[in-house]
Amino acid sequence: MTEKLISSVFRKEVLQLSAYKVAEAKNLIKLDAMENPYSWPEEIKQQWLEIIKDCPLNRYPDPEARQLAETIKQTNQIPQPSEILLGNGSDEIIQLLLIALVSDANVLAPAPGFVMYKQVALSLGLHYQSVPLQADNFDLDMPAMLEAIKQSQPAIIFLAYPNNPTGNLFKQQDIESILAVAPGLVIVDEAYAPFAEASFINRLTEYENLLVMRTVSKLGLAGLRLGFIAGNKEIIEQLNKIRLPYNINCLTQVTTDFALNNQALFEQQTQQICRDREQILNQLNNIPGIKAYPSSANFILFKTAKNQATTIFEVLKDRGVLIKNLSPQGGLLDDCLRVTIGKAEENKAFIEALRSIIN
Ligand code: PMP
Repeated sequence: MTEKLISSVFRKEVLQLSAYKVAEAKNLIKLDAMENPYSWPEEIKQQWLEIIKDCPLNRYPDPEARQLAETIKQTNQIPQPSEILLGNGSDEIIQLLLIALVSDANVLAPAPGFVMYKQVALSLGLHYQSVPLQADNFDLDMPAMLEAIKQSQPAIIFLAYPNNPTGNLFKQQDIESILAVAPGLVIVDEAYAPFAEASFINRLTEYENLLVMRTVSKLGLAGLRLGFIAGNKEIIEQLNKIRLPYNINCLTQVTTDFALNNQALFEQQTQQICRDREQILNQLNNIPGIKAYPSSANFILFKTAKNQATTIFEVLKDRGVLIKNLSPQGGLLDDCLRVTIGKAEENKAFIEALRSIIN
């Protein structure tokens, strides 16, 4: 009965989708979701509580989040005259971008890549095409990318920079070549910018089709849900028409503004994470049968011996450490796991558990 009702009201694209699953992490060391493991010192927490105390919860928030938008422009050095649009996480911005496209649009992204590009594109009935990265180093396969762009004339191309889940930065000149030939928008998704020494933000005014997307999630504010996209003012204006008016709640507005004005705190944390990342990369590569890939993000992708990834993942979980099993996605991710850099003791627990499983 309900089945009939459901199939009569929902689009077939929705019926065919599976919901994005998030693993239960209760009582586990959580190294699966690229969060910053550190919280704030007590003194900063007190200052923050003083500020949110006066948040007018009975009123709608500023629909334009003007104060926060100004702070974001300054702290992220958004060049004039580029504009920004804020989203409830960058996930919402991905959805917004795709909702706005012409109905038969092609969406293109390299694979493996961030799953939400495909998930949202398919939910909207758009054509999604992925182009495999190079197997050895996860660089863009430029002949294949350029051919796909020529053939399918994508309305939008997503390039995560650094890429999730591989952790590498694509070559700058490859992205420039894509920008030069792309007939539509090119979204450079810089979710992991706090851990990478590269960005296209300062190139925004050079390309009318370039948009750079960022989030505060990986910086240490995943709970707030705040992302933004920067680019050509006229393009941002179109996107703004379909943004829901109060998409950034008042607690997120004031808290993000407060946090971005305390940048030094995050810099210490991200530097620590980058140092620990290099140590874990070495430790992983010293475990027999493991090949870990260099990363410019706050996580590391590593390959296990053939058909061992799922067992290793499960045993790690039994021993209290939750990472991400990418092996079921197949393709270049066969036998691959991904670990987020945590606090020193969490990283140690992960490496020790992994060593004990493999030896
Ligand atoms: N882009 C990339 C490449 C990501 O890995 C993620 C989160 N894993 C996001 C965007 C979404 O970030 P958020 O919605 O938390 O801003």
